[in-house]
Amino acid sequence: MIEQVAQIIKNVSRGAVLTGAGISAESGVPTFRGKEGLWGKFRPEELATMDAFMANPKMVWEWYNWRRELMSKVKPNAGHYALRDLAEYFDNFTLITQNVDNLHFEAGSPDIIELHGNIQRNKCAKCEKPFEDESVEILPDAIPACDSCGGSIRPDVVWFGEMLPSGAIERAFFEAEHSEIFFSIGTSALVHPAASLPMVAKQSGATLVEINPEVTELSGMADFRFACGAGEILPQLVELLKEDRTNG
Ligand code: NAD
Ligand code: ZN
Repeated sequence: MIEQVAQIIKNVSRGAVLTGAGISAESGVPTFRGKEGLWGKFRPEELATMDAFMANPKMVWEWYNWRRELMSKVKPNAGHYALRDLAEYFDNFTLITQNVDNLHFEAGSPDIIELHGNIQRNKCAKCEKPFEDESVEILPDAIPACDSCGGSIRPDVVWFGEMLPSGAIERAFFEAEHSEIFFSIGTSALVHPAASLPMVAKQSGATLVEINPEVTELSGMADFRFACGAGEILPQLVELLKEDRTNG
């Protein structure tokens, strides 16, 4: 089956991928949902919202500092690196991610759209001005204030109920519509609008490939489905393409 996917890649020029928390699971970053997910231990839907931040900024910062600390210690895995290499086999290959962990950047993917922001950055909760003073450690008991408007500083990630960064989702839909092959990797495909991207790609004629050990809303629609870890199957795909290039 993976050979068929490699064959399709050889005959197309535009590809795109949507990644979710699952691609980073093998790096040791817990997912929200799925078997090993954080759901149950924490309630991200109650912590990752503006309402929670207004009601209890200290609690929200404790949760983000904990995740930030965890993410600062991890490294990209074989799946991230394989996606970087996969880009070389297309004229145009866009990586759309819902992750906030920076690992696709660290792996070196050339064209990344971050739909949900980046946990390493901060901004003002009121006027959205970026807060770039890296020397300031954010202590939940002493949250810094914006130097323009005095608003509280928050992580620069997209919370439940918030708009996605302007331009990012529009470009993601453009790439999905124009892709000839689209990969949905490590996402539970539940959080819209990102979850619509694979459907839009498929409806626009792309071959849809899903990589996820668990069945999702999208699984029935996929042309190819690999029920395994991304770090297992993606390097195999790149290896096949590499061999082919060497031989031919
Ligand atoms: P999710 O937590 O809802 O789902 C993760 C999916 O990954 C599950 O379907 C699971 O079966 C699958 N999975 C687990 N291990 C895998 C592996 N090795 N290979 C491939 N798939 C695997 O994640 P989501 O769909 O991205 O949605 C959750 C939201 O939470 C996103 O908006 C994201 O921003 C955020 N989030 C980000 C991170 C991160 O940046 N690493 C971590 C947790 C949550
Ligand atoms: Zn401000």
